[in-house]
Amino acid sequence: AALYGLDRWGDPYFSVSDRGHVMVQPRGDRGGSLDLMELVQELQGRDLSLPLLIRFDDILEDRLERLHGAFERAIAQYGYAGRYQGVFPVKCNQQRHVVEELVSSGRRWHFGLEAGSKAELLIALSLIDDPEALLICNGYKDQRYIETAILARRLGRQPVVVVEQADEVERIISASHELGAAPLIGIRAKLSARSTGRWGSSVGERAKFGLGIPELLATVEALRAADLLGELRLLHFHVGSQINDIAVLKDALQEAGQIYGELTKLGAPMGYLDVGGGLGIDYDGSRTASSASTNYSLQNYANDVVATVKECCEPHGIPVPTLVSESGRALASHFSVLVFDVLGAGSLPGAVPTPLESEALILRNLRDTYAAITAPEASVEALQEAWNDALKFKHDALATFRLGYLSLPERGLAEQLTWACCQAIAERIKGLPAATVIPEELRALPAALASTYYANLSVFRSAPDTWAIDQLFPVLPIHRLDEKPEALGSFADLTCDSDGKIARFIDPARSSGQGQEKPLLELHNLRPGEPYWIGLFLGGAYQEVMGNLHNLFGSTNAVHIRLKANGGYQLDHVVRGDTNAEVLEVMEHNPELLLERLRVASEAAIGQGSLGISDARRLMAHLETSLRQTTYLQG
Ligand code: PLP
Repeated sequence: AALYGLDRWGDPYFSVSDRGHVMVQPRGDRGGSLDLMELVQELQGRDLSLPLLIRFDDILEDRLERLHGAFERAIAQYGYAGRYQGVFPVKCNQQRHVVEELVSSGRRWHFGLEAGSKAELLIALSLIDDPEALLICNGYKDQRYIETAILARRLGRQPVVVVEQADEVERIISASHELGAAPLIGIRAKLSARSTGRWGSSVGERAKFGLGIPELLATVEALRAADLLGELRLLHFHVGSQINDIAVLKDALQEAGQIYGELTKLGAPMGYLDVGGGLGIDYDGSRTASSASTNYSLQNYANDVVATVKECCEPHGIPVPTLVSESGRALASHFSVLVFDVLGAGSLPGAVPTPLESEALILRNLRDTYAAITAPEASVEALQEAWNDALKFKHDALATFRLGYLSLPERGLAEQLTWACCQAIAERIKGLPAATVIPEELRALPAALASTYYANLSVFRSAPDTWAIDQLFPVLPIHRLDEKPEALGSFADLTCDSDGKIARFIDPARSSGQGQEKPLLELHNLRPGEPYWIGLFLGGAYQEVMGNLHNLFGSTNAVHIRLKANGGYQLDHVVRGDTNAEVLEVMEHNPELLLERLRVASEAAIGQGSLGISDARRLMAHLETSLRQTTYLQG
C-alpha cells in the first residue's frame, strides 16, 4: 500500500487486505468493507465485462456527511450565527443515478443543485422538490432560461438566477416585467484576488465570468431602478477548481466578504454568500500545495470560510449570511473506481541471444562488454565504462547496417545484446550497498527497460484529464499487493493514438512538495492465464462527461453498489456501456445498413468462390455480435 501511497490518499475509503487485495470501506470509518477483487469477479459473473466503473453510493453519502459535518463543527466553534447550505454543481457528474443519489441523500440538509446550462437546469428543476433547497443558475442565460427560472418559483422551487455577464440584468428585468414576477437574484463577482493552480484564471479582471466592481454597481442600480433590488439575495464567486493553496481562498473570502457587506449597505436584502467550488482533493496524498494536492483539510476549509465571513460581517453589524458552496470535485471524486484489465505487456529483450556460427566483430565486442559487466569483480566505474562501450557498439552496428555491411539478423542480435548489457547493469546496481554512489546515467537504466502494459481502456473516454491537463490519478493493481512487484511499467490504452497512455504516477517517496509524480509504476509480471486488474481511483468528478469517443470507444459498463446493513452488498443499478452499434449511430452511421453492405459483399465473394458459405456465416455472426457488445476487448 505504501508503494502506491494508498495509505495517504485512500484514507478512509481504501486499504489493502492481508491477501493483498484492495479493500473498499464505503462508509469510511463507520464499518463495513468489500474486497474489490472479489466484487469485480462477482460482477464479471453477471456478465459485466471490464473495463468497469464501480460507483459506491455510500461513499457519495459519506462525503456529503463529511462536508456538512465540517461546516457544522466550524459554525459551532466560531459561534457563527448562520448556517451552511450546499449545492452540487451538476456539470461535475450529470449521470442520473449520481444526481438522484445526491439529492435523496442530501434532503436532510436541504442540499441543492447548481446548473450551468438549460439541460442542467431541467435536471435540477425536476429533481429538486424541496422548497428550501437552493437551485443556483449559473452560466450564460437567454430569455427562455430566465423565464423558466422565474416560473419555476411558482412550482415552489428556489432558483437563484446569478448574473454572470453585465447584459444579463436587462434580460432579468424584461422577463420579470413580462411575467409580472421576479426570480431570486444573485451576482457573481470577478474578484481581484490572485489564484494559483490549474484553474487560476477563473478569477481576476480577465476571468470569463463575473462582474467587475463598476459592472456590479451598475447592476445594483439597474435592479433598483426596476424595483427588483429586493430580490438580490446572493453574492457568488468562484476562484477555480482544485484550490491547492488555502491562502488563495482566504484572500478571496476577505474580498467577497467586504463586497457582500457593501451590497447590504446599498440596500439589497442579501442573505446568501456562495463561495463556489474549488474545495480540492489530495490526489497524491502529499498534503502540499502541489497541483495534485491541497495544503488544507476539509475542516480547515470550512473553518476558514466560516471564520473569515464572520470577521467581515461582524465589525459592520451586518447579519452573517447563509453560507453556500458549490463543491463538486470534493463530493464526487472518491465514489467511483475504474477497474480495467491488462491485455499483455511488452518489454525489451533482456536475455543474451545464442551466438551465430561466425559473428561480426561488432557482435563479439558486445558479447565481451556483457562479460565485463557480469564479471564478479566489476566496479561501478567498470559498469559505467561498459555501458558507454555498449552504446557506442550499438551505434556502430546501426551505421554498419545502414551502409549494408550488417544483415538484419545481425542488427537484431546487436540490439538484443545491448539490452542484455542494460539489464545486467540494472541487476548489478540493485545488489550494490545503499551508500554506493551510482552515476545518474546508470541509475536511469531500469527505467529504460520498463515494460508497456496494454490496458483494455481508452484514456480519452475514461480518464480524459490525464491526457488533457496532466491530471494525476492514483493507479494501482487491485490484487497481488502482498507480492513485491518485479517490473516497472506504464500503460498504453486501446486507441491508435500515442497520447493514449497513462505514464504519470504518484511517487509517495518524493516529499519535495513540488508535484509528487513519476513516469513509471511498480507492477507485477503477468502470469499466463491469470488476470491482472488495475484500479484508477478518485476519478468520480468530471471524467465521465469530459470523456470522448476517440477511435469510437464508448462508455464502459457501470454499476452502483450499496453496502447492506447485515454485510455484503446490493447491486442497485447497472448502466450498460455503449455498444458498437450505439457509437456508430452517434456518428450517423446505420449499423443495419453497414451489415447489409457487408452481406452483399460476402454474397459476391461466395459467387466468385473466394469465400465459403460457412466462413461467410462466421464473418456475419462476428459482425452482428460485435454490434451488440461494448466497444472494448472481450476477455
Ligand atoms: N461552481 C462553478 C461556477 C464552477 O465553475 C465550478 C467548476 O469549476 C464548480 C462550481 C465546481 O468546482 P469544484 O468541482 O472544484 O468544486
